[in-house]
Amino acid sequence: MDFGKLDLTREQLAFWDSLDEFFDSHATEAVYEEERRTGSGYSDTLHKALGERGWIMPTWSRERGGAGLDVVSNRILQLEMDRRGVPDITLGTTHLVLAVVEAAGSESLKSKVLPGVASGDIRMCLGYTEPDGGSDLAGVRTRATRSESGWIINGAKMFTTGAHNCQYTILVTRTDPDAPKHRGITVFLVPLDRPGVEIRAIHTVGGERTNAVFYDDVFVDDDYRLGPENKGWQVIASALQTEHGDDEVDGLDELSNGMVYAKTLRTLLWHATKWAETSGPDGNRPFDDPLVRALLSEIAIDLELMRGAPGSMGRIIASERLIQRSAELLDAIGPEAVLPRGARGCVEDGIFEWGHRYAQGTAIYGGTTDIARNIVAQQNLKLPRPPKVG
Ligand SMILES: Cc1cc2nc3c(=O)[nH]c(=O)nc-3n(C[C@H](O)[C@H](O)[C@H](O)COP(=O)(O)OP(=O)(O)OC[C@H]3O[C@@H](n4cnc5c(N)ncnc54)[C@H](O)[C@@H]3O)c2cc1C
Repeated sequence: MDFGKLDLTREQLAFWDSLDEFFDSHATEAVYEEERRTGSGYSDTLHKALGERGWIMPTWSRERGGAGLDVVSNRILQLEMDRRGVPDITLGTTHLVLAVVEAAGSESLKSKVLPGVASGDIRMCLGYTEPDGGSDLAGVRTRATRSESGWIINGAKMFTTGAHNCQYTILVTRTDPDAPKHRGITVFLVPLDRPGVEIRAIHTVGGERTNAVFYDDVFVDDDYRLGPENKGWQVIASALQTEHGDDEVDGLDELSNGMVYAKTLRTLLWHATKWAETSGPDGNRPFDDPLVRALLSEIAIDLELMRGAPGSMGRIIASERLIQRSAELLDAIGPEAVLPRGARGCVEDGIFEWGHRYAQGTAIYGGTTDIARNIVAQQNLKLPRPPKVG
């Protein structure tokens, strides 16, 4: 790893400076309040404002609706969005699906979808997980059967986050039930406004909104197929690798897949430091207690670990440390820390109560930490696959 100083150009520094003005006026308290209320990971006003600047696809040329940013300026933009904790789940899923559409979509599908993505009018989500299981993605049961002019889809997907704010979902379907399970899969981009699509809200204990989506005789023409029939496993393999953070980002060094959770731990640390610096009724500051100082210092070190550990390793460390530290903060602060936002006597507006609830789900989505351990074992440590049981 190169810890050398990065020399930014005058333009990159000016770009960095210019971000404050944009985010101060668009990532407003109203945006964060809406996110606390809905848990949707999406703000329509902010998303469209990003689109107007070309910052949904920042490295695309201006002709394509991007901003023509170089990779370093793009990273500055991403880090600033991360630092401010803007609601960006739907932006993230749109990027993941977009990569598959670009790689495997027909030219006519690309011309239908890509310009709207850059402007913010088209957003996309991930239809992988099913009610019967998510880790074993190759076990999908949602069926797509050929009709004369296209495909008829029947089945159900679980946890399609952002579907209620998206125009399309990527959909992993079974097209050949008689083939070995990895060989009978076909991937589609499905418009969510088709007759037969029903989106039902699911609210998690962590305050997030996700969805169950049902497909009842949903018709799509063949143009919506992503990649060859029955070769869908290869089509989604690279999308999953990107989601797991196991590839290079924009030619820069790998960025830990734990960054998204580091954001939450950093917020908790910021509020914990504020709490620790405030004197209690006895005139003492929590900060004067060496155990409190030790905990806050350990969290600061964890944050460096979370940022530095690459790919799936960063993802495991990030969610496990977030779960552990959010619980330790509740212990250190005391019973008031479990009071939720708005309750009389809550600490730092209930952030610690929320943080502890939110932390639990981070060991699940995007693939569980158990699956991340399998990836590290097989891809990084080159250990053999476990033998099949039964
Ligand atoms: C808030 C939230 C948002 C989500 N958003 C999306 C989304 O947008 N799109 C989408 O498609 N999915 C989404 N998911 C689904 C998520 O990816 C799955 O929940 C996850 O992959 C696990 O699948 P499962 O819940 O079916 O658990 P299962 O796969 O049934 O696993 C159950 C348990 O067994 C363990 N396990 C399973 N297989 C193995 C193995 N081979 N080795 C070791 N342990 C194993 C798991 O770690 C887990 O503890 C979301 C989930 C949540 C909670």
